[in-house]
Amino acid sequence: MGWKTLDDMDLAGKRVLTRVDINVPMEDGRVTDTTRIDRIVPTVKDILAKGGIPILLAHFSRPKGQVVPEMSLRQLLPALETAFDQPVKFADGNYGAAVQALRPGDILLIENVRFAPGEEKNDPGFAGRLASLGDIYCNDAFSAAHRAHASTEALAHLLPACAGRLMQAELSALEAALGNPERPVVAVVGGAKVSTKLDLLGNLVSKVDHLIIGGGMANTFLAAQGVDVGKSLAEHDMTDTARDIMQKAGDAGCQIVLPTDVVVAREFKAGAENETVAADACPPDAMILDAGPQSVQAIGAVLKTAKTLIWNGPLGAFEIAPFDTATKAAARIAADQTKAGKLTSVAGGGDTVAALNQAGAADNFTYISTAGGAFLEWMEGKTLPGVAALMTN
Ligand code: ADP
Ligand code: MG
Repeated sequence: MGWKTLDDMDLAGKRVLTRVDINVPMEDGRVTDTTRIDRIVPTVKDILAKGGIPILLAHFSRPKGQVVPEMSLRQLLPALETAFDQPVKFADGNYGAAVQALRPGDILLIENVRFAPGEEKNDPGFAGRLASLGDIYCNDAFSAAHRAHASTEALAHLLPACAGRLMQAELSALEAALGNPERPVVAVVGGAKVSTKLDLLGNLVSKVDHLIIGGGMANTFLAAQGVDVGKSLAEHDMTDTARDIMQKAGDAGCQIVLPTDVVVAREFKAGAENETVAADACPPDAMILDAGPQSVQAIGAVLKTAKTLIWNGPLGAFEIAPFDTATKAAARIAADQTKAGKLTSVAGGGDTVAALNQAGAADNFTYISTAGGAFLEWMEGKTLPGVAALMTN
């Protein structure tokens, strides 16, 4: 594989700087979804079992190089202690002293690495200061591996480095499913982050046979075809890019599947009065919040001929019923096809995974990645800096 795992390292008595992704959703001071925390438990327990002392490095939200008290990792301590079933120490300053005080069996969490301006700049000085706190570097944050930051990239060059269990599992599963995918390959891309994902779409069209576009992203493509999308979420300044992507898809023989009917409403709230109309008939004062039944049928037909599916992004505003209908229906078709052994299905993305869980479909997918951006970049065949840094060691 080209990178080491915890099995290749002698951890006895060693301080193991472990980069994790515990950027979990919170509401009123409570973690609402512990998936990311649950997934790092095997790594932390393995390090402890091998006599190592885990020192957790992580980011939370986007403090942009400044100390933002509401983004302190301290608030995650209760959830971490529950997950690890033991106390977790915390250091928000004087890291050297905190590390000196550690004993075998301890776990230490270091304050939000993004409070330091050097983190996102991949600053060698900051990485050096982090490196001085440990003996070994373990990267278990696949979902942050598309960023070349001090704690995900530079640090790997300064200490003996290895992948943690989650990183190992993510890379192995993605490689097994998609390294040499069986065709036809279909990608479902939806969600809200139109401008970030349009770029990725451009790369996908040369790699997949069918590209199903949904969510806010589909609105931008509809607008690019001259359709009036009313008050829908759409990036009208991206319509040229969308047209380029459609052109590129045509040249590459990739079929783009856009909604042909849509569910529209005048309010963005649960149970909002809604109607299903043709994709080019959104009233000027309404917004498109989901794909319609005819679109779902077309998506289902594609999924039933496909051998490999990669999915990122919900097809509609799935958080508010009934605009979760298309996402759930498509998810169940994919899950059924996978269960029947006809499809290899891999999905990633915070909201996507939440939607698939809500649909009761996630368990039947071949693999569910906790990563969003990293998952997409891996799908495109890009080299992830955090993974590449482990290779060179
Ligand atoms: P992921 O986290 O899986 O990468 P995104 O964050 O890109 O997915 O997209 C999820 C968000 O997209 C959800 O909050 C959903 O409500 C929103 N969304 C999807 N379709 C629409 C739409 N038609 N209008 C408004 N928001 C939408
Ligand atoms: Mg999201």
